[in-house]
Amino acid sequence: MFNKACELVKLCTDNNKKIYEIVIEKELQESNISYDQLMDRMKSILDTMKNSASSALDKSVMSVSKLTGGNAKKMQDYTNKGKTVCGEIINSAMAMALSTSEVNASMGRIVAAPTAGASGIIPAAMLTIKERFDLSDEDLIKGLFTASGIGQIIAKNATISGAEGGCQAECGAASAMAAAAIVELAGGDINQSLHAASFALINIMGLVCDPVAGLVEFPCALRNASGVANALLSADLALAGIESLIPFDEVVEAMYKVGKALPESLRETALGGVADTLTGKEVKKRFL
Ligand code: SF4
Repeated sequence: MFNKACELVKLCTDNNKKIYEIVIEKELQESNISYDQLMDRMKSILDTMKNSASSALDKSVMSVSKLTGGNAKKMQDYTNKGKTVCGEIINSAMAMALSTSEVNASMGRIVAAPTAGASGIIPAAMLTIKERFDLSDEDLIKGLFTASGIGQIIAKNATISGAEGGCQAECGAASAMAAAAIVELAGGDINQSLHAASFALINIMGLVCDPVAGLVEFPCALRNASGVANALLSADLALAGIESLIPFDEVVEAMYKVGKALPESLRETALGGVADTLTGKEVKKRFL
């Protein structure tokens, strides 16, 4: 039905439909399940996201390696004090993103949307916009279909794998997916959704994948926190009427080219970036 953003725009415009409506139609065409079954599946995904985004906020959840954990609670406690630099919305979103990352590192249940490493961004973005605009679960389910449509375009035309394209492909894709969904849920049109997705990818283009000791913990969780902030600010940029000079399809193509140009040491091998620092190497020795 669509492989590229330009095709999605045409479908939405010609049929006067939102992104989520086109994505739902596509899912129904390509699967053998009914509309109700599809909605039930997405509801279950949303429930898992809600759990992972909240379960490390009031208690420290440590990773299996014991290397990381407890930062979601620290962030939430700090947010609750009410005097922060970025304000309650951004800080609470970052706490939720850290929560899902910590649940992932502790081998808990998360939704790998689009990957386990970047799983904190979309739940935190969805729950933030729910609170901000008093949205229902049904609204969030629509948002998840919108996010999924953007993710499909990135996966088809580039990559969502850190091993192939660096962290820009994982956390960047998650931020772009979330940004587009936030815009649609906030009442923006398809073009604004795509501008937001473009901003989110452009903002972190070139970001390398360098997990210390090869564990999806540090700097991954931090990048989920900054990734949700990236999604929120990219959505606001687009909703303010600011446009991306480069269309989304071309941004995706550029991200893929940048990813392929990254040396192997910066693509999930833990041989470069912060993984290759003195401390990173010491940690690796300790854990492996
Ligand atoms: S640094 Fe690598 S492993 Fe960690 S979240 Fe980014 S892409 Fe995934």
